[in-house]
Amino acid sequence: MATKKMHVKKNDMVMITAGKDHGKTGKVQRVFPEKGRLVVESLNVVKRHTRPRPGQSEGGIIEKEASLDASNVMLVCPSCSKPTRTGKRLLDDGSKVRFCKKCNEIVDK
Ligand SMILES: [Zn+2]
Repeated sequence: MATKKMHVKKNDMVMITAGKDHGKTGKVQRVFPEKGRLVVESLNVVKRHTRPRPGQSEGGIIEKEASLDASNVMLVCPSCSKPTRTGKRLLDDGSKVRFCKKCNEIVDK
């Protein structure tokens, strides 16, 4: 399966840059690399009406986070706390890490 390169990972702090939650920050709860989408905890919440299912749920309105396109979020740097773009850096041991283009600190620790 073709997997897109994601610039954010699960548990990253991100800022939403488009849509109704524009400017809000939250933690990445799930990523869907094959779709290039992600879910941010408590943000982009949509209300869904569900039917009652015997033995499973009573039905009603549930609130659930909808996925966002990964291009609509920016990583919030854990070092300088600013939304930033990241670059990739190769470490001596051959592993690739992301770094903050604002403060140059490594994001993946
Ligand atoms: Zn930074």
